Amino acid sequence: MRTESLRQELSRRPLLGDGATGTQLQQMGLAPGACGERWNLDHPERVRELHRRYLTAGSDLLTTNSFGGTTTVLAGHGLEASAHAINVAAARLAREVAGEQAWILGDMGPFGGLLEPLGEVSPDTAAAAFRQQAVALLEGGADALLVETMSDPVEVEIAVGAAREAGAAVVIATYAFQKSAVGYRTMMGTSAAEAVTRALAAGATVVGANCGTDLSLRDYERLTVELVAAAGNAPVIVQPNAGSPVLREGKICYAESAAEFATAATRFLAAGARIVGGCCGSTPEHIAAMRSVMER
Ligand SMILES: [Zn+2]
Repeated sequence: MRTESLRQELSRRPLLGDGATGTQLQQMGLAPGACGERWNLDHPERVRELHRRYLTAGSDLLTTNSFGGTTTVLAGHGLEASAHAINVAAARLAREVAGEQAWILGDMGPFGGLLEPLGEVSPDTAAAAFRQQAVALLEGGADALLVETMSDPVEVEIAVGAAREAGAAVVIATYAFQKSAVGYRTMMGTSAAEAVTRALAAGATVVGANCGTDLSLRDYERLTVELVAAAGNAPVIVQPNAGSPVLREGKICYAESAAEFATAATRFLAAGARIVGGCCGSTPEHIAAMRSVMER
């Protein structure tokens, strides 16, 4: 029901996502390197508070706190056995805050390794990890699943396939790009056109870019043009970092201001993007600034 309304709304108007989760949780006291997803069980009030800030900023879509919620990543924190509970809680917390005011994107980040033959993780192992996460996020009330910050199109195919198998009707797939001598590429050397084509063929219904390395908002604008050209009728989502992280007085800072995000949002939408939001370093202020240039 809500999934259908999300689809309809997406064809009617551009939608606003939310901003960073990880860097925001760190500001709320999460130690660097600690498991942020564990907070869904240990500090639900803090996770709710972050969702509330983005909802107040005007987000149409709230992203669950489950980026590192696959069993494969959680195993690194000794939390493999809690994977189901962590992901169900992630979706429930976002839903509790959003009510019917926003749609919930169940977040699925990379499984945390390399696939065979480059790495030692078999496609079956990765698929099982993604499937388990997808099932739990949908059980907790996610309206759509967001496969994000991907570099390897094979991993996208596996994750998107798992999300579809779990029953998600709307699956968003986004890659992290960087600049190379031959244009924007993922870390695995995949172009925007190939990335989009393969994600769509695997069953993604929305495609795009997030995060990335050393990409300015101008780069993101050019990247949007490439993504839109490749996506055909599929909606494109663009969620940049707030600039590259820089170390200032011992603290990690992000350079792009909220005002710059508002200007960028206008440009991304003019280039054909249908969902805009932010990734690392972006805050509720960045999202509120984007809201100010978007109609409801
Ligand atoms: Zn990011």
